[in-house]
Amino acid sequence: MKRIGEHAVVIGASMAGLLAARALADFYGTVTVLERDAFTVSDIPRKGVPQGRHAHGLLARGRSVIEQFFPGWTDEVVAAGGARGDIAGDVSWIGHGVTIKSAPSDLVGLLASRPVLEGHVRRRLLQLPNVRAIENCTVQGLVAGDDNAAIRGVRVKIGSSEEIIDADLVVDASGRGSSSPAWLESLGYARPEEERIEIGIVYTTRVYRRRPTDLNGKYAVVVAGSGPNWRNGVVLYQTEDRWIVSIGGFFGDHAADDELLFAAYAGSLPTSEIYDIVAHAEPLSDFVSYRYPANLRRRYEKLKDFPKGYLVLGDAVCSFNPVYGQGMTVAAQEAALLQQCLEAGDADLARRFFVAAKDAIDVPWDIAVGNDLRHPKVVGPRSPKVRFINWYIGKLHMAARNDAELATAFLRVANLEAPPTLLLSPANLLRVIRGNLSRAKPSHGADRAGRVSDLSAEARRAKAEA
Ligand SMILES: Cc1cc2nc3c(=O)[nH]c(=O)nc-3n(C[C@H](O)[C@H](O)[C@H](O)COP(=O)(O)OP(=O)(O)OC[C@H]3O[C@@H](n4cnc5c(N)ncnc54)[C@H](O)[C@@H]3O)c2cc1C
Repeated sequence: MKRIGEHAVVIGASMAGLLAARALADFYGTVTVLERDAFTVSDIPRKGVPQGRHAHGLLARGRSVIEQFFPGWTDEVVAAGGARGDIAGDVSWIGHGVTIKSAPSDLVGLLASRPVLEGHVRRRLLQLPNVRAIENCTVQGLVAGDDNAAIRGVRVKIGSSEEIIDADLVVDASGRGSSSPAWLESLGYARPEEERIEIGIVYTTRVYRRRPTDLNGKYAVVVAGSGPNWRNGVVLYQTEDRWIVSIGGFFGDHAADDELLFAAYAGSLPTSEIYDIVAHAEPLSDFVSYRYPANLRRRYEKLKDFPKGYLVLGDAVCSFNPVYGQGMTVAAQEAALLQQCLEAGDADLARRFFVAAKDAIDVPWDIAVGNDLRHPKVVGPRSPKVRFINWYIGKLHMAARNDAELATAFLRVANLEAPPTLLLSPANLLRVIRGNLSRAKPSHGADRAGRVSDLSAEARRAKAEA
C-alpha cells in the first residue's frame, strides 16, 4: 500500500460511494463514508436510494470489478439467496422487437435485489480495519482552504448537531442530485457543463412469487423498447421464490398501478413471457413507480480549474437511462480507475481521474443515448454515425435471432466486456449480412402481431367486466 494521506471522506454510501471507499482504503490511513440515511438491519430498500425498489440488473463487467474489490462477494450474494447465471444462456433478450438467440456463454451474471447487492458490498467494506461509516449524517457543504484552491473537509449535520470533518480528500458520490455544481460555484469555480437527453421514463414495479418452472427455468427477461410502442420491461430473479417485474415507457407512456392495466401493458410487450408472470403469479408487493426524466452527464473533465482534494463520481457525474442497466457497473469501473490513478500519487489527481472516467463513460453513454435517439420524440444530435449504428444494430438483431455467436457478441458489448468495434469486425459484419440475406422466419413475429394484442385485449376486457 502506498500511503497518500491520513483521511479520505466519501459522501454517500450507495454503490458508487462504497466502491470508491474500497479503492481509497488502500491509500489513506482512514476512510470515512458519510451517509444521510440509517442503514437498514436487513437488506431492504431505503429512503436515500428510492430506485432500490425497482429491478436492477448487474452487467457482467460490474460483477467482475466488484468481485475483484471483494473476492468471494458473488458467492456471498448467492448464499444469501441470489443466483449466478449465464447472461446469454439464462436470459431472454428482446431488442428491436425480436428475441436474440440464447446459448451458453462465459458472461457471468449475478441476480439479487438492489438492496442485497449493496448490503453485501457495504458489509465487506466495513470489515476493512481502516474504513468506518457515519449514518444519519448529511453533508451540507465543503470546507475550503484560505484561497479556495483546495478542499479541506466537509460541513455535516449529524442528528441535530453541526460539525466539520477534516479530510485530505473528499469524494462526492451523493448521486444524481449531487450538490457539487452549486458547492463549486459558491467557491468561485465554474459549474460543469451538463448534457441532458430528456426521455421521461416511468418505471412501475411489482414483486411476484416465483415458481421454478416459470420462464422454463430462465432467470430473466429483458425487453429494450423499440418502435412502434417503445415500451420496456424486465423480469429478474430476486430469490428462489421471488421475481421483480419493472415495466414502463417514454414520455409518460407508463404502466398504471392497477392490476389489470399493468397486465395489459405487460401484454403489449413483444414477448408473452412478462405477461405470463404478471397475469398468473401471486403478487407479493404493492406497485411502486419511479420517474426518470433524462439521461444526465456532467462534464467535469472539461473544467479548467478544479480544487485540489476533491472528486466526484457515480451518478453524480453521469446517470443513464436505467433500461440499459449500466449505473452500478460504471460506478464500479470509476472506482477501479480511481484506484489506478492513486497508484501514481495524488498530484493532479482530479484532472487525471476525470479524463479516465470520461473514457469509461463515453461507451455506455453512447449506447444509452444513441439507442434512446431511435425514439422519434427524443431530442438530441442524430449524427450520421448514430443513424448508421442504430440501423446496423437493428440488422444485427435480425441476424442474431438465429445466430448465437452474434447474439453473444452483442451481449458482450452491452455488458461492457468488449468495445463496440467488436460488432463491426469482419467476421461479425459477415454474420449480419448472411443473417439478413437468409430471410429467416421471425422468432416470434406472429406473437407480436397476434398474441400480444390478444393479451392486451384480454386484460382490458377483464378490467371492463370488473
Ligand atoms: C429506476 C432505476 C433503475 C435502475 N436500474 C439499474 C440497473 O438495472 N442496473 C444498474 O447498474 N443501475 C441501475 N440504476 C442506476 C443505479 O441505481 C445507480 O447507478 C447506482 O445506485 C449508483 O449510484 P450512486 O451510488 O452514484 O448514487 P445513489 O445510488 O443515488 O446514492 C447516493 C447516496 O448518497 C446519499 N446522499 C445523498 N446526498 C447526501 C448528502 N448530502 N449527505 C450524505 N449522504 C448523501 C444517499 O442517501 C445515497 O445513499 C437504476 C436507476 C434507477 C433510477
